[in-house]
Formats: sequence, structure tokens, C-alpha cells
Amino acid sequence: MTDAITATGLVKRYGSVTALGGVDLAVPTGSVLGLLGPNGAGKTTIVRILATLLRPDEGSAHVAGVDVLTDPRGVRRRIGLSGQYAAVDEYLTGFENLTMIGRLYHLGRREARERARRLLADFRLEDAADRPSRTYSGGMRRRLDLAGALVADPPVLFLDEPTTGLDPRGRTDMWEVIQTLVAGGTTLLLTTQYLEEADVLADSIVVIDHGRIIAQGTADQLKAQVGGERLEITVTDAARVAEASALLAPLGVGAPVVDAHRRSLLVPVSGGASVLVDALRRLDGAGITIDDVGLRRPTLDDVFLTLTGRPAEEVEAELEAAGTGRAGRARKEARR
Ligand code: ADP
Ligand code: MG
Repeated sequence: MTDAITATGLVKRYGSVTALGGVDLAVPTGSVLGLLGPNGAGKTTIVRILATLLRPDEGSAHVAGVDVLTDPRGVRRRIGLSGQYAAVDEYLTGFENLTMIGRLYHLGRREARERARRLLADFRLEDAADRPSRTYSGGMRRRLDLAGALVADPPVLFLDEPTTGLDPRGRTDMWEVIQTLVAGGTTLLLTTQYLEEADVLADSIVVIDHGRIIAQGTADQLKAQVGGERLEITVTDAARVAEASALLAPLGVGAPVVDAHRRSLLVPVSGGASVLVDALRRLDGAGITIDDVGLRRPTLDDVFLTLTGRPAEEVEAELEAAGTGRAGRARKEARR
């Protein structure tokens, strides 16, 4: 299989900030690559370079077999891009937005209209087709923006954080739309801050931090590195957290992590709910009362903690200090 997207040694600096510190990518034709990383990691910079909106300081890249540096127009003819912020004309209806794009791509009038109707149906916007898009919800706008990226039926598609800012329903709707899309054979590069999203949508995942690739593989491979499920327990009495740890250690697939200050205990487990029940029985039997218990799947925070040795909180704090404000909101969403 050939690669629809390749990049070698991409470097991009903004003054003293190295946005990309040498990134290599290869995305096989017809597959979905999830580019996973926190705010400020360099995701948008990669997308902008591949979509020919930005020139790298070093490195090279090919999209659909075309060199992004020497033939940017050729690349643009073969790609669709849906940016981090939906770019739709507020005053036009959904139908008008899409027919306008069709005309820009030199589709005939009739073809543009047919294509618009078809996309509106595919993206569940049929009922809203004739309303100005300013009346759309955030999720509907993003779907319309994505539909716009598909008007010219490009073989390669870039989606930059397609679900950031959407509520859970909007997010799962978008996932379904994207899954239908890639079933048709489109090569997709998708950026996200959510491990779960990459998990659901991507064939392979590249994790980036500070403009460098820190891990790559399938979702399962990454999760294995991160360590699967965790049982998280908060005991009532801080003096008994060590005892609780010893009691639950045999249930774990790795050593429990104790945070005496927060009276909490993290036990890597596999086996789901049955382990949870077992753990509660043991604690109850020893007369240890708890304030909170939960079974957690690995989150992006966990990936970061495992891969970089620092929690995503610190990444977030760095970003907040740098004035990149959205990290807090994104993090809250990642927690859901
Ligand atoms: P992401 O999309 O993963 O949130 P970006 O690619 O937008 O990350 O940004 C990567 C880094 O480059 C960040 O540190 C960001 O502040 C910086 N950066 C991005 N664009 C610019 C710019 N136009 N000027 C200066 N710094 C920038
Ligand atoms: Mg971005």
C-alpha cells in the first residue's frame, strides 16, 4: 500500500518557540491517523504545513503523491480541510454554503446543488438545510464545515480537532459521521486531545508533545503502555491508606500507587467490575470505610504521565502561563 501522506523531518520555529522539532509521518492510503496531543503540542502546525497553509523551516512532505513545497496548488486540489474553528458563512443557509463551495470548485450549477443535498443528508442536516447557519448548534456548524471540506470529494482529508467544544451528544454524532466517511476509503488525518476519540476513529495514533513524537502505535499498543484500567479509591481515614493498599495489591496487575495526602489509592487492574466488587468486599471485611471509588479507563492524562513522566496538569499549567487559555476547558472535557 502506498502512503497518502508522508512527512520527513518537519521543523517549524516561531521566534524562540520550536513548534515542531522534527516530525516524521506516514499515513497509508485509506487509513486514519490520529494525531494526539495537548493544547500547544504542534497539531495545528502539522496540519497547516500538510495543507500548504504554512511553510516548514525544514523538512519535506507529500500529500496524495504531490510535494507540498513545490506544488501547493496541486496539493490543494486533492485535499479537504476542516479547521479547528468552523468556517461557515453565518448568513447563508446550509444548502447555500455548500452550493457556493461547489461553485468555487467549478462544479456545474446542477451538480453543485445535487452534491449539497446529498452531503446535507449524509451529515444529518437535511431538516436545517434552508435555515441560516447562524441558527445552527455548535455540532451542526462543525458538521456543515466538514461537509464543505468534502464538496470536491478529496481523496485526503484533514480534520483539526473536529469535536473540541462539542457536547457529548455532538461528539458521538460527529464520530458516526466520520466513521461513515472513512468507510468510503478517504485517507484521514485527524487531530485530537482525546485518547478516546483517537481510540474510536484512528487506525494508528501518533502522540506528540512540544512538537515531538513521543509515542506511536495502535490504540491497544498505547493503552498497553499506559497500563489499562485503574481502580481509584479514596479511604475515609488517611491512616489506613497503606493498609488498604496492601489489601488490594493482590487484585492489581501492577503495584498500587498511594497518595496519602489525598487519602487515595490507584490500583492498575484488568477484569473490570468484578475486580471492583472484590475490592469493596476486602475493604469492608477489614472495616476500612471509603469516601469514593471508581474504575477508570486510561485518559490522555495517563498517557502523558506514563510517557513524559509529568502529568497533563503541568502541561496545562505551562500553557496557561504562556497564555494559551483553552487548556482548562479541554481538560474538563477529556475527563468526561
Ligand atoms: P496545537 O494545535 O497542538 O494546540 P499549535 O500547532 O497550534 O498546537 O502550536 C504549537 C506551538 O506553536 C505552540 O507553542 C503555539 O503557541 C506556537 N504557535 C503556533 N502558531 C504560532 C504563531 N503564529 N506565532 C507564534 N507561535 C505560534
Ligand atoms: Mg490546534
